[in-house]
Amino acid sequence: NPLQGAQFTLAAHRINQLPADQGAEVAFAGRSNAGKSSALNTLTNHKGLARTSKTPGRTQQMVSFALPPLGDGTEARLIDLPGYGYAKVPEELREHWKREIDLYLHRRQSLRGVVLIADIRHPLKEFDRMMLDFCAATHLPCHLLLTKADKLSRSQATQAWAAVRKTLGEGQAAQMFSSSAGTGVDEARAAVMALLHT
Ligand code: GDP
Repeated sequence: NPLQGAQFTLAAHRINQLPADQGAEVAFAGRSNAGKSSALNTLTNHKGLARTSKTPGRTQQMVSFALPPLGDGTEARLIDLPGYGYAKVPEELREHWKREIDLYLHRRQSLRGVVLIADIRHPLKEFDRMMLDFCAATHLPCHLLLTKADKLSRSQATQAWAAVRKTLGEGQAAQMFSSSAGTGVDEARAAVMALLHT
């Protein structure tokens, strides 16, 4: 597993608190409760990795995880972006993160692509569409993980996946995923590595 060995580096409230903008990184985004932490833990094969971002005081922050360097020595990272989409998040905070994520996607030189995590039963809510639009506007490739696929029958999951794929633009791809059942894990790891090498 090429994503093995990921390690927490820091949590940031603003993009200028992130690690130096060098090397290659892939950002993970998703509405709260979509299954983003589980996906990060499954992909990195590190059970407690993304839970660290959920400990009190660290919620609603951008979290950086260092990966082993790429084959040519390039520094590599995963960035866990704050998720919202629940009414629970105060409007002001929601606006802060919307602005900060927009800035991040536009300015971050080392950013190679985005992995968007959405519950296969509720795909493409407002937050997800916003992320896809931001990615299209900044010409960033986006790989969509339709997670919790184990909650649907195979044919229902395939149907949901096909419906989502039709709405995607250039540089955007979607796959079925399940952290619980292990569905699509190898494919997702390969997609993250491909993004890091872009
Ligand atoms: P986050 O808020 O996006 O980081 O979401 P979490 O990873 O914390 O997951 C939210 C809830 O969904 C938790 O109760 C998880 O156990 C559950 N969950 C996450 N991924 C899956 C999955 O692939 N299948 C199922 N059945 N449940 C999942």
